[in-house]
Amino acid sequence: MKTVVIVGAGLGGLAAGILLQSKGFQVTIIEKNQHAGGKMREYKEQGYSFDFGPNTITMPHVFTNVINEAGFNAQDYLQFIRLENHTMNEWEDGTRLLQSSNTKKNR
Ligand SMILES: Cc1cc2nc3c(=O)[nH]c(=O)nc-3n(C[C@H](O)[C@H](O)[C@H](O)COP(=O)(O)OP(=O)(O)OC[C@H]3O[C@@H](n4cnc5c(N)ncnc54)[C@H](O)[C@@H]3O)c2cc1C
Repeated sequence: MKTVVIVGAGLGGLAAGILLQSKGFQVTIIEKNQHAGGKMREYKEQGYSFDFGPNTITMPHVFTNVINEAGFNAQDYLQFIRLENHTMNEWEDGTRLLQSSNTKKNR
């Protein structure tokens, strides 16, 4: 059996690890942090939780393909719900940018 060592358990490393293992490789993932997910993580501060990293999933099929290609059914693990208003950015001067999956509204 061929072995592979992946440095970093971010989305890239995890996806590569899942796919390589499903193809018969013996995979070891080395991560310097205490958590997997890399930039995709939860941050807690003063009792509040913040989701960091990808919040706008523009290509859900990329996520589902990784799971399906590994021989599982993505629908058993993930459910994507399309939100019309999904991200709000706010600056110090009060300017707000509301991002929407509705192209007209987004423009
Ligand atoms: C605030 C924010 C918002 C974002 N929003 C979006 C979005 O809406 N949509 C979108 O598609 N993308 C978004 N991104 C980008 C997305 O999060 C990244 O592209 C993706 O998570 C990167 O994954 P990665 O595996 O390439 O890298 P990373 O997530 O950075 O993972 C790399 C991993 O390698 C580890 N590592 C590094 N060096 C070593 C070492 N020497 N030894 C051991 N481990 C090591 C790190 O600790 C880390 O866990 C956002 C990013 C941020 C920061």
